[in-house]
This record gives sequence, C-alpha cells and structure tokens, in this order.
Amino acid sequence: MGGRPALLIDLPNRKFHFFGQTLLPTDTPIFALLIGSVFVGIFAVTALFGRIWCGWACPQTVYMEFLYRPIERFFDGEPGKKQKVRGAAGVRKTLKHITFFLVTLYIAHLALAYFVGVETLWKWVRQSPLEHPGAFLVMAATLGLMTFDFGYFREQTCLIACPYGRMQAALLDRKSLIVSYDVRRGEPRGAKKRAPRSPAASEEGLTVSLDILPDADRRGDCIDCRMCVTTCPTGIDIREGLQMECIGCAQCIDACDAVMDKVGRERGLIRYSSQARMAGERARVLRPRLVIYLSVWAGLFGLMTVLLATRPVAEVAVLPRIGAPFYETPSGDVANAIRLRLVNRKDVEATFTVSSPSEGVGVTAEANPVRLEPGESRTFPLTITMARGSMSARGARDVLIRVETDTGLAEDLKFHALGPVNRTPGAKGPS
Ligand code: SF4
Ligand code: SF4
Repeated sequence: MGGRPALLIDLPNRKFHFFGQTLLPTDTPIFALLIGSVFVGIFAVTALFGRIWCGWACPQTVYMEFLYRPIERFFDGEPGKKQKVRGAAGVRKTLKHITFFLVTLYIAHLALAYFVGVETLWKWVRQSPLEHPGAFLVMAATLGLMTFDFGYFREQTCLIACPYGRMQAALLDRKSLIVSYDVRRGEPRGAKKRAPRSPAASEEGLTVSLDILPDADRRGDCIDCRMCVTTCPTGIDIREGLQMECIGCAQCIDACDAVMDKVGRERGLIRYSSQARMAGERARVLRPRLVIYLSVWAGLFGLMTVLLATRPVAEVAVLPRIGAPFYETPSGDVANAIRLRLVNRKDVEATFTVSSPSEGVGVTAEANPVRLEPGESRTFPLTITMARGSMSARGARDVLIRVETDTGLAEDLKFHALGPVNRTPGAKGPS
C-alpha cells in the first residue's frame, strides 16, 4: 500500500506503517486509540460470537490447527488410527521434526519481516548473521520459542499463558454464541440399541426409526462415542457445558456431525448456539453489554479516524535554545540560537523553507531550504537575528518563524526572543 507493506513495525526508524498510514512516535495518541479500539472490538465480537478470535483468528490456533496438526497427522496418522508401518516410526518422527523445524524457521523469518520489511530480510538471509547479529538473535529467539510452543507446549499456551481465556467469563453472557452441546437432545447418552428391521426394509438397506423403541430403551442422540473429546485440541468434554478451556475451534462440531451422519441422525447435536437458546429462552442480539462495547468502540475508532484525517502534513516545533540566551553579532545585531524540529509526514519528499515575516528579523540555518524524505524527522540549529533597537526596554521581543513546504504547509511559530536591555528613549515597554 503506497509502496510499503500493509503492516510494518519499523522500529529502527521509529515508524509504524499501517494499511497505507505512517504513524510516527508523535502519533502515540492515534496508536493508543488503535490498540484500544482493537481490544474493545474483540470484546464486542466475543460478546456476540464467543471465542471466535481464539478459534479462528489467533495465530496460536491458526498455526497449530491448520499447519502443525495436519503435518503431525500426515506423519503420525489420525488419532486412534496410527500408521501401520511400525518399522518406519523412527524415520517418520525424524521427518516430522525436520518439517516442523523448516516451517518454524520460515515463520520466524516471517515474524522478523514485520519489523524490517521483506526486501531487507531477503538481503539479510543471503549475508552472514555476523553482519546483523541483533536481527539474527531475534529470529533465533523466535524460532526457539515457537519450537517450544508448537512442538511441546501447544494448548497449554491457551490454558495457562493467555490472559484472554481467563477474561472470557467476564466477556460472555448467556446470549453469546458459543459451541454448545444440546443436552435436551443428546441425553441420556449411551450406545443405541439396534432397532428391529422389517425384512422389506432390510432388503432395501433402510433403517427403522429408533422412535419405535419402547421408552425404557430410548436414548438421546449422543451415542457416547467420545469423538468430540478425542478431536478437541484442549482435551475437554463439551458435553459438560462451557469451559474456560474451550477455544471455540468447532472441531467437535465437525466430529459429532460426522458421527450423526453415520448413525442416521440429524446434524447439530453440538452446534453454535447460546446458553439461553439451548435452555429454550428468547435470545436478544442487542443487549446492554453489547451496546456499551459498541459505543465505546465507535467512540475510540471515530476519534482515531478524526485524528488521522486532520493530521498536519508536517510537524514543526521550536526547541529550547542552546547555550547563552542571546549574543551580539559583530555588526551589532542581537542573535538567538535555537533549534527547529521538522517532521515530514507525507509519503513524498518535501522541501521546508524557514523564514520570518517579522519586521527586521533574519533567519539563518546551515541548510535552508531543507529537503526531507517521507516520514523523515530532522532537528537542526537556527539563528534568529534582529536589530538591537527593536528589543523592548526589558530586552525581549516576539518574532514569528514561518515554515513553508512545497506540499502545502505554511505555519507561523511564535518565538520569544531575548536580547540586552534597550535603554533607547522611546523603546517599547516590558515584553
Ligand atoms: S461426538 Fe457427538 S455422539 Fe459422540 S460423544 Fe460427542 S456428542 Fe456424543
Ligand atoms: S470443545 Fe469443541 S470448540 Fe471447544 S476447544 Fe474443544 S473442539 Fe474446540
């Protein structure tokens, strides 16, 4: 976007590129509003759809369930159906770990690319690590942490390390959409008694409805096969109700639907629903908690958008003077040495010209005009000179410093200049 990655946290240059916008250190309020709106947005989504973030968007789950777990199944076989070629187990295990390592190495580099950009990363990987030891250590640490996480720690990260899981009890209510087991339909659970088949139905391979069984023999739809438990990455039994360990990945839904298909029952014994709906209550979507979350989110996001839209194209600031408050030049004028900080916020190069519209005031800088790269910030010394006679009786005067750019900025900064006491008759009063 605009020639940059959509997301680049450029720490060395202290810039954050976010979908075409470049945030600088002075944009901390915008950044804080962005982080705040992301968090409140997740709260609102959680209140509506449960732990959809954990199950479908969190990198921990996405990498684990859609990358590492399929690799593991490829080499080890499905859970409960281990590979039959026992003699090759050692080779399979070695190949699995080599694949894990290569995939993790790639992701660790990908993580580093978010901070330095893909071009820089591509240049670095073809050089010796000794030429950029800091970046190499960051990548190696990421590799080590990810290997530990995806190879060993796995769901413990969600259960022990992640604070979001702990917060879910506070974020959810009875009307939130969660992965739910239909107790009324599933219980009493247990292996089904086979219903007798009529000879005609048997010939055609038809199943006779279980509803014809006497009440004592009837069971709920759950046949207690435990496929939902076997497939659950956190190892819980969703039939026990909502638990903190449930990350909402919906794998138990797929497993149970497959079982229902096999036993000829309707799908959806485990499904997305709310506790209120499961209990037969009316479940309103709009409720006070959601209204509060959405209002706070709209406020934060709206304020961030306004600040982004009204950001000046450049930032200029007069910094405290250096050394003596003033000095006299050989020609008898008064000079004040100050520093000026310029930040180019545009995505194109900009030329800054510094001058003063105040009468009899001169501005000299080591380079004027100054050309700045997109996003570049520079602080440089500036000397303001003025006639001694223009100072007030107490030796001061206000001057304007004008900064103009070829990208449309024209800003006048007020500066309180100091000088010697002016004893000239008619000199202005205190300033
Ligand atoms: S997969 Fe379905 S039928 Fe099997 S134990 Fe779980 S809920 Fe019951
Ligand atoms: S209970 Fe179901 S949705 Fe929850 S973590 Fe286990 S498999 Fe995923």
